[in-house]
Amino acid sequence: MTETIDPEFDAYLAKLGPYENPPDGCPNCGRSRVMVGDDGLHRCEKCCWCIEEGVFDRDMLSR
Ligand SMILES: [Zn+2]
Repeated sequence: MTETIDPEFDAYLAKLGPYENPPDGCPNCGRSRVMVGDDGLHRCEKCCWCIEEGVFDRDMLSR
């Protein structure tokens, strides 16, 4: 992974983890590509829905 000097981008990269798809995929869009971040939260690759928080991850959406 490339080193960056941008703390916000580092935080963004920390949310990108291995795929750990729920049985029904993303609750929002149904896509079966859900990633687990370093913080243990699941976020949809496509729509950035955070399953645990029940909201779109604004930081991911802005990228
Ligand atoms: Zn989704």
